[in-house]
Amino acid sequence: MSAGALSQDIGTPAWQKELSRGFRHPRDLLAALGLSERWLTAAQSGHEDFPMRVPRGFVARMRRGDPHDPLLRQVLPLAEEQDSHFQFSQDPVGDLPAMTAPGVLHKYHGRVLLITTGACAINCRYCFRRHYPYGDAHAARQQWVPALSYIRDHPDITEVILSGGDPLTLPDHRLAALAEQLQRIPHLQRLRVHSRLPVVLPQRVNTALLDWLTGSRLQPVLVLHANHANELDEQVHHACRRLRDAGVMLLNQTVLLRDINDSVAAQTALSERLFTIGVLPYYLHQLDRVAGAAHYLVREEDARALAATLTERLPGYLVPRLAREDPGAPAKTPLSTSLHG
Ligand SMILES: *Cc1c(COP(=O)(O)O)cnc(C)c1O
Ligand code: SF4
Repeated sequence: MSAGALSQDIGTPAWQKELSRGFRHPRDLLAALGLSERWLTAAQSGHEDFPMRVPRGFVARMRRGDPHDPLLRQVLPLAEEQDSHFQFSQDPVGDLPAMTAPGVLHKYHGRVLLITTGACAINCRYCFRRHYPYGDAHAARQQWVPALSYIRDHPDITEVILSGGDPLTLPDHRLAALAEQLQRIPHLQRLRVHSRLPVVLPQRVNTALLDWLTGSRLQPVLVLHANHANELDEQVHHACRRLRDAGVMLLNQTVLLRDINDSVAAQTALSERLFTIGVLPYYLHQLDRVAGAAHYLVREEDARALAATLTERLPGYLVPRLAREDPGAPAKTPLSTSLHG
């Protein structure tokens, strides 16, 4: 073994080992949960389209023997994925026309979104990412050079959002190098990261991550992505505490999903659990109309009624904003809710 290979092995962070141990076949997942093989045929065809992928720690939070478990339903391909619906398309939010430089999405005033990678730790069945041509579109391929020069040339940009895929699947030395380049751009004030990793693989929140995220002059914001209170176990709590202690503002966005979190009970429990672990609810997104995900859609009037009830039941700071993404719009579109009174 060469010295290089040896030091590389010693240097593999624990979270990367955990990531590589994740479930990658529906058969293994069903077996681990004690579920019948009758789900396998459907799962197999979805898996061929968009591979199933889920970390073991996330599976450990699922109920054994329950095919309707709200965490399982987010990752197990169902037969309904094969149905086609005319309103559900490959690029439902108009990302491709909004790309201003390789991997840069500049849709809204003052902030740009950087697509840093196409990779994720988990493949969520409802995600628009299932059809996205990341091969050509992410910014890291060119060392972020065109992306950084685009940001430098636009002094009205004050915030950069690292997104993907999941930016935290990248190694810390690369993210540290990017943060260093960004902090040198004088008009930037905030560095925002959108990631599902602190939830699905909380080991990802390590010292190296905290160092680059909080080590620059940019104010750090991390938007988590949790859809259900059961996702937020003690390990996630620990990861969030470390982030908060280091000075990171923590917010959460949720996708509203039929039969997973579209009830008052599920949403109230989620908001309360988020607050317990130091996170404020930010957005409750109406599903993007992506092909293969129609069975997750909650009707808009039902979504509005749910949001109205949450507004009546929870303190204002625990009510997420119900919103939808419309192609070409200048911001996420808020969906208004009229109270009963
Ligand atoms: C959602 C999104 C943002 C962030 O919007 P906020 O309302 O600031 O959270 C920024 N840019 C793009 C391209 C987006 O899709
Ligand atoms: S981008 Fe987010 S929602 Fe989509 S697969 Fe990755 S982690 Fe899941």
